[in-house]
Amino acid sequence: MDFSPTDEQSAIQDTFRSFAAREIAPVAAELDREPRFPRELLLGAGELGLFAMRYPEPDGLGMDVMSYVLAIEEIAAASLSVAAACTMQSLMGTYFVHRFARGDVRERLLPGALTGEVLGTICMTEPDAGSDLLGLTTRAEERDGVWRITGQKTWITSAPVADMFTVLARTGEKELSFFLVEKGAPGLTVGRNIEKMGVRASITSEVAFDDVPATCLLGERGGGIAGLREVLAEIRVVTAALALGVARTALDEAIAYSNERCQFGKPINRFQAVQMHLAEMAVDLECARRLTYWAAWRSDQGLPNDHEASIAKLGASEAALRVCEASSRVHASYGYAKEYAVERLLRDVRFTLIGGGTSEILKVNIAKGLTR
Ligand SMILES: Cc1cc2nc3c(=O)[nH]c(=O)nc-3n(C[C@H](O)[C@H](O)[C@H](O)COP(=O)(O)OP(=O)(O)OC[C@H]3O[C@@H](n4cnc5c(N)ncnc54)[C@H](O)[C@@H]3O)c2cc1C
Repeated sequence: MDFSPTDEQSAIQDTFRSFAAREIAPVAAELDREPRFPRELLLGAGELGLFAMRYPEPDGLGMDVMSYVLAIEEIAAASLSVAAACTMQSLMGTYFVHRFARGDVRERLLPGALTGEVLGTICMTEPDAGSDLLGLTTRAEERDGVWRITGQKTWITSAPVADMFTVLARTGEKELSFFLVEKGAPGLTVGRNIEKMGVRASITSEVAFDDVPATCLLGERGGGIAGLREVLAEIRVVTAALALGVARTALDEAIAYSNERCQFGKPINRFQAVQMHLAEMAVDLECARRLTYWAAWRSDQGLPNDHEASIAKLGASEAALRVCEASSRVHASYGYAKEYAVERLLRDVRFTLIGGGTSEILKVNIAKGLTR
């Protein structure tokens, strides 16, 4: 299998590589430190078409998964925070609105969502329901033709800046459904910001629903889990691309530092112990790259991809963690200092082990796929 990008994919990669180098990399440390949601960078990414890439024409640009993966890898290589906020917008924040919203709701929200002017998010996780989404207790009841939602969500990316919330709620004992709630709906409260270890500029908070009227049901009643399954493989492939971007930068930083830093009268990359780190990082990076592109390629070929996307996400995120950890060791005390990028990368990369399913959950799923 040849995963080399086509000319069109290379052009997209180049566009986002120069955008990331020019606009994102110079402010990545500052965004992390403050932390600050990079609204202007999302608008910039939107102008380049990032949020419309994966939606079919005429609404979107109708591009393939590989193109999107290449774009997001470039953004993640500059800042995982910005990339995490971007993927929330282009995937889960917009997907169900594109798929199911109709009429004036669609006209009001979708064009802005595809440019990044209307920000979206997904509310699934609850204080007592993380991996176990079937255990969620937020409920929706239909009264006088309006669905009303009551419950508590947490870990909601972009919630403080979101204009629209896709909410997973219980509509029956064994029935979960998606709803659209808009900013300003009575009873909707965006709660405290969760202060995080990493991806700090991608703001995350609690959201409370107190008898909130939903704008509409998204999809069929009871179609929540089926709807989620439609996008889960792509979320995992894209999370693998996030990990790949971070790992790439961590290796670049280690190579540059090991060339400059001299001890015992020579650059530290002349010592075999440091060379071992660099070699192992290169192997891990290549594994992450191959797994990510392989799963993206399978999606684009229309091949079954749930199992493979889980393998790619697990493999790429765990490899990226090892690369960041090794880069930190090569930097030694300077890797512990905030002024060196690797300190941020090592904090950020841990997000890729959780988002899109934890490593443990993915291992359980992969093993099930092998033994079914
Ligand atoms: C930065 C960030 C942003 C996020 N953004 C969003 C968002 O926008 N919207 C949203 O809905 N959620 C979001 N989440 C939440 C995320 O999806 C959950 O954190 C994730 O699903 C895991 O849930 P949990 O943290 O409650 O862990 P738990 O499910 O409580 O897991 C705890 C531990 O137990 C293990 N475990 C649990 N069940 C099993 C099992 N069956 N087999 C083996 N091991 C198991 C886990 O792997 C983990 O090690 C975000 C999380 C983070 C960190």
